[in-house]
Amino acid sequence: MPVPDPSQLDALEAKLLNFAPVDRLRWAADTFGARAGIGTSFQPAGIVIMHLTKTAGLKIPAFTLNTGLLFPETLELKKKLEAALNIQIEEVHPLETVEQQAVSHGPELWKTNPEKCCELRKVDSLGKKLYDLDLWITGMRRDQSSERASTPLLSLASRPDNSDVWKLNPLVDWSREQVWAYLKEHQLPHNVLHDRGYRSIGCWPCTQISNSGDERGGRWPGFDKKECGIHTKNIKK
Ligand code: SF4
Repeated sequence: MPVPDPSQLDALEAKLLNFAPVDRLRWAADTFGARAGIGTSFQPAGIVIMHLTKTAGLKIPAFTLNTGLLFPETLELKKKLEAALNIQIEEVHPLETVEQQAVSHGPELWKTNPEKCCELRKVDSLGKKLYDLDLWITGMRRDQSSERASTPLLSLASRPDNSDVWKLNPLVDWSREQVWAYLKEHQLPHNVLHDRGYRSIGCWPCTQISNSGDERGGRWPGFDKKECGIHTKNIKK
């Protein structure tokens, strides 16, 4: 099936809003074939998406942005999920190692310029990966934070050369409770850091335990920063 024309965006989103998440993923596989990919940082919603994909027999591969600064517990979860779901999750790495970045941009850039650090270690990595895809699937949900409250189900993002890539958030209208109930029902592993009080889990230098009601609380403490940029810097519509 050919990649849809961008003019079809609103009509397709309206149609998909009536579908269950697994049927949204089935549409993704049918429409984009091998050019669809699930981006995951192993938050609970991403785990649900990978499980729905696998159990529905859909061939949509998953990838993760390995910044070189992930918690050991996150890397352990990746291994557990690969074993539990019998899948391989591709690791996409930044151009420079953490050590090389310390030389080129200064040590511990996350302490002085987290925007630049995220750009180098996440946004640029994703940009490189998006050339392999026509549809990028993510676990964004509207109830995660006020910044994400108006997240669309289907939208258009862009590659670094400004070409279009479609973006699907199949659990956009699920609550945190629904996601955790799904993990429990299907006995799926989760990041053990959640059990220690972490909410959203990213790179270890920029993630703290949080008591805030905000599901993304505890990220970039001390900075006025709520997003790494992958969901904000390359959005077209
Ligand atoms: S989350 Fe922190 S350590 Fe990770 S890329 Fe962004 S600024 Fe760097």
